[in-house]
Amino acid sequence: MVSRKKAKGKARKAAAKAKAGEEFAAFKPFSLTQFKKSSCTHGWIHDEYADNHDCHKFIESVLEAFGRTKSISDIFDTAEKAALQHKYPEIWKDPAKLEWIASAFVSIGVEAIIREGDKYLYAYSVAYSEWIHQYVACELHKSVPAVYSARLNELIYADKRRIISYLKKRIPCSCLNSSYNVVKHLPKKGLCCFSGCSHIKIELGRMWSCEGCRREHYCSETCQAANWLHHREGCKVWREWEATED
Ligand SMILES: [Zn+2]
Ligand SMILES: [Zn+2]
Ligand SMILES: [Zn+2]
Repeated sequence: MVSRKKAKGKARKAAAKAKAGEEFAAFKPFSLTQFKKSSCTHGWIHDEYADNHDCHKFIESVLEAFGRTKSISDIFDTAEKAALQHKYPEIWKDPAKLEWIASAFVSIGVEAIIREGDKYLYAYSVAYSEWIHQYVACELHKSVPAVYSARLNELIYADKRRIISYLKKRIPCSCLNSSYNVVKHLPKKGLCCFSGCSHIKIELGRMWSCEGCRREHYCSETCQAANWLHHREGCKVWREWEATED
């Protein structure tokens, strides 16, 4: 599928852009065992699978990869994903197990926010959870035509305000209420979809959306025009899909 290939290329470009602009801090390891003993696991039912089940090992492997990699895009495609697919082939075919894993990463993200932990732990956890959802929709349920790479990139490089509001909508508990109260007055920011843009984060209200698909956002008309050749094909895929959905 051409569109997915393009999406991956795009994720890589955005990763390179962010790498150039931001220092990646040393990643502090996250103890899953310790977290399972906490009073609230934020909607993640960790004992749905026994502790020695591959699903738990899968999460440990991803957390370990977070600490090793310099860019989350490496985990979405390339070698890290291939290794996980090779190691746990059954999980990748099972929407229920994958959704359970996605739920674990939402909870890990919440925990990282509450403990004021590593910035990359919460951003990566949220992006990983979203990516698993998209993988299930695109590859298993075939309910969407492509991975929504603009959203993934936006989450990887999102600020704390965006991460907290994303997580808050996905948990049944009130554990993020006080963190949300601290950030809710800050402006909502988005990521310009043009990989050559230097304005990485801009206020959402000031962004230009692609008229065709409404899935890509830009800081200016110039960036939108500059990205059109790259986006044209992907835009068509979403437009055609939306036409059939109506
Ligand atoms: Zn909670
Ligand atoms: Zn731009
Ligand atoms: Zn578009």
